Amino acid sequence: MGLGSLFKRGKKQEKQEVTDDCHIDINAENCDGCEKCSIACPNNVLILVDGLSSVRDAQVCKSCKVCMAICPKDCITVN
Ligand code: SF4
Ligand code: SF4
Repeated sequence: MGLGSLFKRGKKQEKQEVTDDCHIDINAENCDGCEKCSIACPNNVLILVDGLSSVRDAQVCKSCKVCMAICPKDCITVN
């Protein structure tokens, strides 16, 4: 029994950068929960939670900005 094999591999830190392709900002103060954004989003990114639009899964957002365009209150910003 020995400690023969020490890991010598200088393993590079593979930093998997989770880059937010899509940054969705929802101004909850202006949102009236009309649900137009979540209905219009082709990727089901948005969901209504407690009467406010919320991001369900930003990773599936394709930044099409349909939600921005449809929101009557101008509360969504997609970068
Ligand atoms: S930008 Fe497009 S895909 Fe992303 S949340 Fe808005 S409607 Fe959905
Ligand atoms: S469309 Fe605008 S006001 Fe309507 S739920 Fe979405 S963010 Fe809120």
